[in-house]
Amino acid sequence: MDAFSLVYQQLIEWVVEPVCEQFFSLFNLNGRLGALFLCTSYGVAYGLYRSRKHRGLTQARSFWQFIGGSRVYWHPSALLDYRYYFVRAILKVALVLPIVHLVDPYILRSGDYLAFFINLWGARPRLGESLSLALLYGLGVFLVKDFIHYWAHRAFHSRWLWAFHKVHHSAPVLVPATASRVHFLEKIVEKLAVGAGLGLYVGGFWYVCGGEVSRYTLFGVTYLVFIFNGLAANLRHTHVWLSFGPVMEHLLNSPAQHQIHHSDAPRHFNRNFGTNLSLWDWMFGTLHVTRSQPESLRFGTGEPEHDRYQTVYGLIVTPFVETVGKFRGRRGQRIEPQAPSP
Ligand SMILES: [Zn+2]
Ligand SMILES: [Zn+2]
Repeated sequence: MDAFSLVYQQLIEWVVEPVCEQFFSLFNLNGRLGALFLCTSYGVAYGLYRSRKHRGLTQARSFWQFIGGSRVYWHPSALLDYRYYFVRAILKVALVLPIVHLVDPYILRSGDYLAFFINLWGARPRLGESLSLALLYGLGVFLVKDFIHYWAHRAFHSRWLWAFHKVHHSAPVLVPATASRVHFLEKIVEKLAVGAGLGLYVGGFWYVCGGEVSRYTLFGVTYLVFIFNGLAANLRHTHVWLSFGPVMEHLLNSPAQHQIHHSDAPRHFNRNFGTNLSLWDWMFGTLHVTRSQPESLRFGTGEPEHDRYQTVYGLIVTPFVETVGKFRGRRGQRIEPQAPSP
């Protein structure tokens, strides 16, 4: 094969195919950012617009203006999010999947746990397949994933990982594509943590049931994820305020609560880490509930390095540069000689 054909083949495999796949993923149901879920989210936003207009609670003259208009959807940060959405597909093929596959064999899977428990306590009688069992199993998968996402998110707000998570928080305007503005390193950690946690849960569940069980899904997606994505989940990354009210928000994470999480006001820092449930925030002391009256928010990190995260290159490389800088600063501090006492 000549050099040209080789480059051409690599270009197709590493760039064209992932980008096309990412584009067509907009039309499947396996992810929040699908056309159906975007439609339901903006359908809810339209309902809010009509209701607020009717009660004189909005000055917006049109629905387009109500959701933010050109100043949000054509903002340089939003345009960056649209570009990064496709760049991420290339990063996934080039970095995320190879690294995950490299580490994957060292992570215990459900089968390993099942064998381990059988070895430890002996085999259990097989329970028959039933709808309630499949629903319970699916509920567990949902809870385990949501719980791990909560702690992974919280870990990425810590000093040493913040530079990577800042990629997501650096957006000064929120559009549904901002959900994909996530550094590839965070994606890798999240995938491995979810793989490890689910392995333990699934292995344990199968052991109790005396063998493998299939989970209840809707269109191939864990049914609760499907329901939550259908419930206006895309409004989390928009300027449309949708609160579930202080009581409900102790359990379910509303779009308004996630917007609070993106606020650059110090009083909102480290609040509402939850993805679907805010139950974890309530349990671990990071909850901030909202009311139907919109709060005045400005999105971003409020940090001076904010501008370094406004290009595709910046989103990928700056976190490494900042983390190395932090590490050097810390070492520098350590070896700094003590000032002689007067
Ligand atoms: Zn965050
Ligand atoms: Zn977000």
